Amino acid sequence: MLIAETLLGEQVSLYQEKHNNPRINALRSQQLRCPSCKTTVLVKAGKKVIPHFAHQSKASCTGFSENESIFHLQAKTSLYQWFTQQSLHPELEKTYHEINRRADLAIKTSHAEFAVEFQCSPLSAELQRIRSSDYRQIGVIPFWILPAEFIQKASIIKLSSFHQQFIRYSHLTDQYYLLTYSFEEQSFTIYHHLIPLSKTLFATSYTTLPQNEIRFPSYPISIYQITEKMYESHLKMNEKWLINIFKYRKSVRDPLMRKLYENAVSLFETPPWVGVLLKSNVYFSCSPMEWQFYLYLKIRSSHVFYNTHLIGELKQLMHKRVLNARSYMEPLPSDFLEVAVEELLQLLLECKLINKHQNGYTLTPLESNGICAHNRSEMIKKFHDEKKNLIIKEYNRR
Ligand SMILES: [Zn+2]
Repeated sequence: MLIAETLLGEQVSLYQEKHNNPRINALRSQQLRCPSCKTTVLVKAGKKVIPHFAHQSKASCTGFSENESIFHLQAKTSLYQWFTQQSLHPELEKTYHEINRRADLAIKTSHAEFAVEFQCSPLSAELQRIRSSDYRQIGVIPFWILPAEFIQKASIIKLSSFHQQFIRYSHLTDQYYLLTYSFEEQSFTIYHHLIPLSKTLFATSYTTLPQNEIRFPSYPISIYQITEKMYESHLKMNEKWLINIFKYRKSVRDPLMRKLYENAVSLFETPPWVGVLLKSNVYFSCSPMEWQFYLYLKIRSSHVFYNTHLIGELKQLMHKRVLNARSYMEPLPSDFLEVAVEELLQLLLECKLINKHQNGYTLTPLESNGICAHNRSEMIKKFHDEKKNLIIKEYNRR
C-alpha cells in the first residue's frame, strides 16, 4: 500500500517517493498504521523495492490484500497519474469504512463515484460479486481493471472464469467487452463485442489505445458487425463441441448423456440450427450448442411447444446447475432466460424452421430433419450456405 496513517489519523503517502529520500528513514522510526484495520504497518523501501507500506503482522486485513506485488504498486501509481492528467482528482487507496473496503483508487466525477480496482491476483467470482455489491450498496460504482499481460491479443481469446468477471456491458452499443491496462505501455486494450465459442473461448476484435487518448470513464467501444469469418469460427467450434462430447463425456451420470439416453437421440441427429449465433449465447457458461441442445430436446418432445415450456426447462436446468449463467462485472438482466428463448424463437421463425400457431409453435418438416452421422457435414454445410446471410443480418440488426 502507498498510504498509511499516523496514530492521530493523518495520512502519510509514499506515492512516487524515492527510496533514498531521508524522509523514508524518518518514517521508519514513526509509528504508522493501516487506515483500514488500524494495525501497525512498516515502511518497505530499497533499490529494487518501490517505497510502500506493509502490515507488520500477517494477520489478514479485510480491507486490503496483503500480497501486493511491485507490479500492482506500479500499475496503481501509473493509473493515478493518468487520472490526475485528466484533472479527475483521484484518491489513492481510499478507505470506505462503512463497508471495510479499500479501493486502489477512488474517482469522483460530476455524475458518480467510482472505486477502481486493478486486480492482479485471481479472485473467485463469489468474492468479486460480494466486493462489487458492497461498493454498490454505498452508491459507489466498482470499476475493475485487468492487467493487459493476462490476455493474449488475438481474434479468439481464452478467458478463464476469473478473467470473465472483468467483462462489462456497454448499454450504448449493446455488447459485452473487456478492458485491460498496461502500465508499461501506458495503454488500454479494448476487446470489443465478445462472442462466446465455448466455455472459455471468445471471438473478438481488439484495439489498443495510448492512455492519453482515453478519458475516463468513456471508453471508445466500436459498434460491432459480425463477419463471415467469425461466423465460420463459431460453426467450427460448435462441431468441435460435438466431437468433444463423444471423447470426454461418456459417463451416464453426465446430465447431457442421460438426456440423450432418455430421449433415445444421437448427438449426430442434432439439427443444424442448434448452437446458432445469438446474442443470448453470452449468458450461458457453456458452448452455445449445449444450452440450445437442451431446448431442442424439449421442442421435439411434443408436437406443439410453447415459449413458457422452454423457459421452464432452462429454469430447471439452471436450478440443477446443469446449465450455469456466466459471471460478469454487472449482474445479468433478471429476465435473461426469457430474452434467450425469445431471441431463439424469433430467429427460428425468420429461418422458417418453426411455425407459429396462436401461442404455440411446431417444427417445420424439413429435409435436414433426416440428419445423421453419415450426412451430417453435408447437411450442416447446406443449411449454413442457405441461412448464413439471414442469421448474420438478424444478429447485426439486433
Ligand atoms: Zn490493514
